[in-house]
Amino acid sequence: MSTTLFTDIASLVTNDVTLDKGLLGELNNAAFIEESGQIIWVGSSASAPSADSKVSLEGKSVIPGFVDSHAHLVFAGDRSLEFEARMSGRAYSVGGIMTTVRATREATDEELDQNIATQVVEMYRGGITTFETKGGYGLDVEHELRSLKLAVAHTEDVTFLGGHVVPEEYKGRADSYVDLVKGEMLEACAPYARWVDVFCDDGAFDYEQSKAILQAGIAAGLLPRIHANQLSQGRGVELAVELGCASADHCTHLSAKDIELLAGSNTVATLLPGAEFSTRSEYPDARRLVRAGVTVALATDCNPGSSYTSSMAFCIAVAVRDMHFTPEQALWSATLGGAKALQREDVGSIAIGKSADFVVLDAPSFRHIPYRPGVDLVVETFISGTSIYRSNK
Ligand SMILES: [Zn+2]
Repeated sequence: MSTTLFTDIASLVTNDVTLDKGLLGELNNAAFIEESGQIIWVGSSASAPSADSKVSLEGKSVIPGFVDSHAHLVFAGDRSLEFEARMSGRAYSVGGIMTTVRATREATDEELDQNIATQVVEMYRGGITTFETKGGYGLDVEHELRSLKLAVAHTEDVTFLGGHVVPEEYKGRADSYVDLVKGEMLEACAPYARWVDVFCDDGAFDYEQSKAILQAGIAAGLLPRIHANQLSQGRGVELAVELGCASADHCTHLSAKDIELLAGSNTVATLLPGAEFSTRSEYPDARRLVRAGVTVALATDCNPGSSYTSSMAFCIAVAVRDMHFTPEQALWSATLGGAKALQREDVGSIAIGKSADFVVLDAPSFRHIPYRPGVDLVVETFISGTSIYRSNK
């Protein structure tokens, strides 16, 4: 097996706390060696052993690939007019999801697959190397199944989200729809999913309905996660902790009790700044969570209605500016925090034995990500030691 030494790195974020270099395990004038897609050595450029080949990164910086633990990539259609109306004063409501459901049902398999592929390329260009994605825009057995079959070709972290909203044909019969989701729909979709999710919020599913869906998913062998407390201070977080969900996503409206519950659990709080940005909503304050000891992840929530961004760098900038993350905490949450939200041990850090998923930045350190919002700093993205995107600069 051949080894490659990446060296002359001005700032290397390892996320390895055993290095005793803070939360990010940041090394300066650093190097690492990759073999067969894994990291086998990390240290200073000066002390790097020789390898079969050597790549000088000439003072650029390196971070672990971003782990986007929350995205909705299986959809068709465009909701830019809805965004425009919202920015002109109209409030966000979950009803807009049906617009995407109609477009998704009408799209061909090829159109849906091409749309996923386009967004995946965008993610790679922005430094995301691991991502989760969901169904949730089919809302019947045929189209949820199709969504997940398409998704598994792109990622191993596929989520069954039949419980996204009650579709219009079930208006006034939410419990019948819940029966369909936890019955026939789950049975069809479970072979293609790792996760089960539900939107537990005003206008979506209540605590009891959400619990029934998640419990059915768990019984079918899926791991639970949840959309919780985006629109109101409901019981989503409480349910997440009760069922041992890997993560509670959104967490926009949290009571002191919710934070206490999260802090005493293994449930990650995943914040989605793109959603608050794109719906002009109040941002949650990450300091409350971090201070309490809650594990916090950052993700894009990439979807056509409420957060149409595939840029983790953008999310970090907004998280730092408006959610009061420190740049260090935001970077950690977008990498190792995301890995924890997906219960992935192999990604999220640059340490011995981890997958060689990393991003080369045209910047002296990761701090330039929030410091230079909107500026594309990614020079090259690697997955398992293989370059999957390289910019022209
Ligand atoms: Zn979502």
